[in-house]
Amino acid sequence: MPKIAIIGGGIAGASIAYHLSKRGSCSVDVYERGELLSETTSRSAAVFGHYGNATEVKMKRYGAELYNKFFLESDRELSFNLTGRLLCSTTKEGADALSGTDDVDADESSAGSGVPEKERLILDDPVTYIARGELKKRMATVPYLDDSEIMGCLYQPNVGFLEPIGMGREFVYRAKKHGTQFHESSEVNEIVKNGGEIEGLTVNGDFKEVDGVVCAAGPWNIPMARSIGIELPATHTLAPILMMEVPNPMKVVPPLFQNIESGVYVIGRDNKTVYVGSYGDRGEYDPREINDKIPVELREKMLKFATKFFPILKEAKVAKEWVGIRSGVSDGVPIVGWTEVKGFSIAAFDSSGIQLSPAVGDIISKQILYGDQTELYENVSITRFEGHTDTKWSLNK
Ligand SMILES: Cc1cc2nc3c(=O)[nH]c(=O)nc-3n(C[C@H](O)[C@H](O)[C@H](O)COP(=O)(O)OP(=O)(O)OC[C@H]3O[C@@H](n4cnc5c(N)ncnc54)[C@H](O)[C@@H]3O)c2cc1C
Repeated sequence: MPKIAIIGGGIAGASIAYHLSKRGSCSVDVYERGELLSETTSRSAAVFGHYGNATEVKMKRYGAELYNKFFLESDRELSFNLTGRLLCSTTKEGADALSGTDDVDADESSAGSGVPEKERLILDDPVTYIARGELKKRMATVPYLDDSEIMGCLYQPNVGFLEPIGMGREFVYRAKKHGTQFHESSEVNEIVKNGGEIEGLTVNGDFKEVDGVVCAAGPWNIPMARSIGIELPATHTLAPILMMEVPNPMKVVPPLFQNIESGVYVIGRDNKTVYVGSYGDRGEYDPREINDKIPVELREKMLKFATKFFPILKEAKVAKEWVGIRSGVSDGVPIVGWTEVKGFSIAAFDSSGIQLSPAVGDIISKQILYGDQTELYENVSITRFEGHTDTKWSLNK
């Protein structure tokens, strides 16, 4: 049997393993340096909602369908909490841009409003624009929100959060059932290449010959790809979370609230717990140098905006905090599949990996097993970036 090795046992590696082993006549080994699902996946806010650009929305549709199947069939602990999502602006320009989002074409006049283009392209999902002063009249779920500075917002009811480790485990269980071998405490030290083609991997010092490698190493994708000469057009952002606990149970759990201008978001997890998160600057971080203490300035900013919009949080205590690394791609779409090295594929997200991992597994497995580039090829392929090509390798050829 041909051998495929997957680097990384996060949700992406687990989904790719599930899809490959379920569909294929190949052996699949997942090498995870630490414990399965213990890195970015376990740190995630794990929000799921059909917002983003057209490619992401299509990928999320596949994910929703697969997660529905898992919910129905599994007797393990899985959960999805519907919260709704409020995307708010405190400027007139931002509010004007948001009010035009249900037009599929991005409104040029909204350029410069600070609203990311992908937020102006919400497609095919129920979404309502709520003007200044209307929020509390239209929603009974925002008693704790101080909306006095909010100039306008979008409300999407069809948004909630998953339990990311549970979802990841579901992929692992299913992949194991189809024969995938998961190896924990197994560090890939080197990807071995001969000319432009993969020969194998060194894992904990031992060479393993393989027919193909899929790199699903989360924030480590950038150095991994670089080690075989691929400069991945991807970046990182710090993704901090403050888990806050209010002294008395809230009567209503706050929806996902995102403030465009500050980049700070707040989401109620249950009637005592709220996550406060933020989007940081893009760059490249060494994940081993990131500890779980949020940089002071960023932490202060998160608390300032969270308590400004949700004064109830002034009474709350920080029960826990952590920092993860979000991967980023300049056009907001993940890089998925074949690369210029024969036998080497990649799963690099622009964040949203909990939502997009199912589709990533689908795409990569179809490419490797059948040589089927898939309908999203043009949008997700690394070849959309200048200077990148690919070899359309497959076990079928
Ligand atoms: C705070 C935060 C909030 C987020 N919120 C959301 C959200 O709301 N919705 C959403 O969809 N996404 C969200 N994301 C993003 C999402 O969590 C990630 O995109 C997703 O978890 C990435 O999964 P992964 O499997 O690619 O990476 P990881 O989970 O990081 O897995 C990669 C694995 O590779 C392993 N590895 C690396 N190098 C090696 C090596 N040399 N040898 C062996 N193993 C190796 C690592 O140990 C790791 O376990 C958030 C992320 C963060 C940090």
